[in-house]
Parts: sequence; C-alpha cells; structure tokens
Amino acid sequence: MDELNQFAANVADLYNAGSDKLDLPTARKIVKEINTFLFTCPSNIGSVYELGQKFPYFSAFHKYWHLHHRDILNLQISDEACEKVADELHEVYVRTEGKAFAEIYDTNGLSADEICRVRLLTANQDFRGSRNFKELSEIYLSDPTIFDEKQIINSPADFVKSIGITELSQNDKRVRYAKQISQFLLEHNSAPYDIIKVFDNDVTRLRNALIEFDGAGYGNKKTDMFIRDMVVLGVWNRVKGFDDIDVASDVNTIKIALRTGILTSEIPLISSFLDIFCYQYGYVDETNALAWRRVWKIWTDKYPNEAISSPCLLDYFIYNVVGKQFCKLSLCYFVCEDGHSFYWHSANNRTCQVCYKETKERKKAKMLYKLLPCDVDEGYIAIDKTPFVQSKIANPNYHQCPFKRICEQYGNKNLMPPKSISIMGQTGWNSAYTTENSGGGGLMA
Ligand SMILES: [Zn+2]
Ligand SMILES: [Zn+2]
Repeated sequence: MDELNQFAANVADLYNAGSDKLDLPTARKIVKEINTFLFTCPSNIGSVYELGQKFPYFSAFHKYWHLHHRDILNLQISDEACEKVADELHEVYVRTEGKAFAEIYDTNGLSADEICRVRLLTANQDFRGSRNFKELSEIYLSDPTIFDEKQIINSPADFVKSIGITELSQNDKRVRYAKQISQFLLEHNSAPYDIIKVFDNDVTRLRNALIEFDGAGYGNKKTDMFIRDMVVLGVWNRVKGFDDIDVASDVNTIKIALRTGILTSEIPLISSFLDIFCYQYGYVDETNALAWRRVWKIWTDKYPNEAISSPCLLDYFIYNVVGKQFCKLSLCYFVCEDGHSFYWHSANNRTCQVCYKETKERKKAKMLYKLLPCDVDEGYIAIDKTPFVQSKIANPNYHQCPFKRICEQYGNKNLMPPKSISIMGQTGWNSAYTTENSGGGGLMA
C-alpha cells in the first residue's frame, strides 16, 4: 500500500458515512490524520537527495508526491494549440516585421567587446533588484578598470560596491559570484569576448561550462539570457547551437502556456504548500520549455522564411509583452455616486471620467474590481496603454491580446502558474520539519 492509499484508508476507517454530522472526537482524529500525512516527518520514512545533500522525507505525502507527481499531473503539450499559437506569432511577426522578437536594449555606444565584458561580469548579479545595462554601461564608461577580471578576483567586494548593488540584498552571495565568474575567465585564460572561441563557437558547450562552474551564479536561466543577448546584439556571430537554447521558463511564460492550452495538466496545479521540494514546479518548468520549443518548431516549419533562429527569442514577446503587459488584471471597473460606471486603465484613478467628460467637474469614483483585458469588449482601454501598443511597432496595431481566441477555445485564462518554496533558508522546507508527537512545525514568514 502506498502512502496516499494508507492515508485514504485511515480516513475512511474514521469516517462514518451514514451520519450527516461528524462527531467532535472523529473530527479531531481526521484533522490530526491530515496534518500527520501532509506535514509531519515519520521515523524511518527514508530520505531523498537534493542540492547535493541528503534530507529525510518531509512527510509521508512528500514521499508519495516525489514518486507520483508526474502520474498525477500528467502534463501534456497540445499540438493543436501549439499550431494556433504559432499562427498568431506568425501574424505578430508580419505585423511588426520581426521587431516584436528582437528587443534590443540601449548599449550606450559600447563596442561588442565591452558589451560582452559588462554583461558577463554582471548578469549573475541580476536577482532581487539589479542595475539595467544602461546604468552599468555608464559606470563602465566612467572607469573601465572596474570591470577588469584580474582586479575583481582580488577584491570582489570592491567590484560589487563600484557597480552600486551593495544596498540590494544578499551581499555575500554577490561577492562570491563576482569572484567566481572572474575565476572562470582566468581558468580559461580568456577575455569575456573571446570565451566563445574557447568553446569552438558552440554556445551549448559554453552554456554547460558556465552552469557547471561552481558558485558563479550562472544557472540555466541567467546563462540562457546572457547567451541570447550576445547573439541578438550581434556581439557573437556565426555561433553553433543557438537553437538549443530554450525560452526562459518562468512564471510569465508558464502562465501563457497554461492559459493558451499549449500545456495542460490533468488537475489544476497544486499549491506550493503541497509541492514539497518543488517537484511540480520543476516538472512544469521543464515541460513549459518543451511546449514553447514545439510552438517554435511548428512556426519554423510552416513559415521558414520568417522564423526566428531559436526558441529563446520568443522570450521578449511572450514574457514581456503578453505575460507582463496583456495577460494581467489591468482593466479597472469604476462606479461614481451619480450611477455612472466605466472601465479605466489605471487603478490610481479617483475621478469619474464620465462626469468629467459631460460637465468638466471632477467627481469621485470608486474602483470595484479588476479584470483581464480579454474579459470584456472594452479591454482595448487597458491594452492601448501598454508600452508595446504605445511603441506602435505593429501595423496594424494591436487592440486586444493576440491569444484571446486561443485561450477561449483551447485553454483557460483563469489558470495560474505554480509557485515554489525553497528547500533551504529561513522560510524553506528545511526549517519546517516536525514529528507527529511534537506537533507544530511549518513555515513562518
Ligand atoms: Zn489573455
Ligand atoms: Zn459620474
């Protein structure tokens, strides 16, 4: 009997199906049973390896979830929905002449060599607040010696201080990352710009080397974004393996994958409180990258003349435009004392815009709720104010989310991406263990 079966049997034993009211002693036993199953650590439950360490299973449920999360969720990629999304991306490509997939940031006149140097030495600092490239390039221009890896390795703390990120959190980690990325360059005896040559112009080999290098802060996502930038900005040309780089899997690209139905799960995703040690998160993350790769493949096969050279280039449009600008609760519904109601693009509005239009008088209005722009015909009120639409790069311009009909037909726009709780740290699982006899346990924010 597996753990879930045992739990279900225990509850079934306690439960008296005939009565329509639980007696108090039974109710107590059931609450205790649920808590024991989900959140207490039995003796001899066994252990699991994570982050190079051995941890006892957090609970009987944890063991069950570890072994069965894939069967329970059964994530699928829908070819049919992928093709619809690919067709819409084709339309976006045509309307924007490809510009929607080639976000280029202001490199402030730096040479290819300098862009690579500044980006490689700072991309790993991009967590919990960061400096944008423009700010970093200003610092570089004011004194390029700050960005010398041979200096950084001896005084990494000075580097972190010079680029002005000491007031951001986790300073020890930042200093270690600065030192280790310099160490990476020194070990390969290469300047940042030439590091790709060390790996035969093969981005996959460079990627693996960066990710495997201990303590430099280059995980999958940061490495992919760094490589993507170097290719898109034309710093590195004629590289191999660029199409191996996936879209950055994060809550925004996952959200759009779930809502459009290119990625489906058998049951709605479970809460992070049940996703002990992030098995669901990891599984969704990995399948999400495959789903977007599928979209990219269908698109390139169907429209070979226009397609972009790697799934990672879907990122700007999917993550930044659809995820962060269109598919969010940005449309606000307001009412005023005189009985007017209207939609508005900003929650900060305090004025009845209907009264104002009619009488030029400013009367108070109250916001009742927020909607997705695709929920009502007036969605354009919010969509038209987004940076993407304001930039007018699409012709004809967009006034609704290009995926609106796909979400309605294949997906579900109410679906939410998964959240994760870390294993280590003050608010991590590791601090939440307890046993059945001691009680308590859990997380405290
Ligand atoms: Zn939508
Ligand atoms: Zn009014």
